[in-house]
Amino acid sequence: MGLLLSFQSLAMTKQSETRNEIDFWLKTIPQLITLRPMPSKDGHFPDPAVRRGFQQRLLRWYARYRRDLPWRKTSDPYKILVSEVMLQQTQVDRVIPKYKEFLRKYPSIEELAGASVRDVEATWRPLGYNIRPVRLHAIAKEAVRRRGGKLPDSLEELQTLKGVGRYTAGAVMSFAFRKDAAILDTNVMRLLHRVFLGPGDPKRSKATKRLWDLSAALIPKGRGYDFNQALMDFGAMVCTARLPACPTCPMRQICVSYPWTPDRNSRNRTGRSRRSVKEGSS
Ligand code: SF4
Repeated sequence: MGLLLSFQSLAMTKQSETRNEIDFWLKTIPQLITLRPMPSKDGHFPDPAVRRGFQQRLLRWYARYRRDLPWRKTSDPYKILVSEVMLQQTQVDRVIPKYKEFLRKYPSIEELAGASVRDVEATWRPLGYNIRPVRLHAIAKEAVRRRGGKLPDSLEELQTLKGVGRYTAGAVMSFAFRKDAAILDTNVMRLLHRVFLGPGDPKRSKATKRLWDLSAALIPKGRGYDFNQALMDFGAMVCTARLPACPTCPMRQICVSYPWTPDRNSRNRTGRSRRSVKEGSS
């Protein structure tokens, strides 16, 4: 009787191992066939073919659907910095009219530096987070006093300015100085996390470092400007927070989260999902 039970349990173990193996290959084969990157647990980047696939899809999409935004019509570092500081924690639609008004009033960094901080704060209203105009004004004064009205053109130096964190510095380097610098705002975080790491919370501190590395590694050489603008547009227009357009998304063959559903996200979530790239406090 004992021997019979041992045979039965051995057979059951074998069955469950076989089932596990079948499950594994059922999940893996479609990923191998469609170039879909495996969810990376060790921080390794996707292989070059997947990287290229992502770059090509993104830039093709951007050529067709990119947004027409006023700060994309200039390469003046001052104007780009104004737009980036305004965009911290504020939606594009609210920023556009204020950006135009602000630059009508302070068309150059010298004019901003020469204004009173009270006047600058009043012009900023009602955008909110009122420490931002104060810091922008201080940056302008320092640039005029110490740098002949010029903003620094290196990531490190830009981040020494109060209120300029890694994201804003990357955006200024990329959009004003046309360097291949990485960016990672909320939209880009969400997009890269879903495509390469899977559903879940992109704000986990471990994931944040990997996402910065990914954002840098994905930039096609010499195309940082378009690529970064495209990342932001795609995150804002296609891979949105609550209702991503998965059925028509050009990334669906390579996205490890496809098809994304709120349900699937919350099952895999380990933390809360709110913007954590706070630069106003740096
Ligand atoms: S398939 Fe869905 S989750 Fe993946 S990138 Fe596209 S919209 Fe985002």
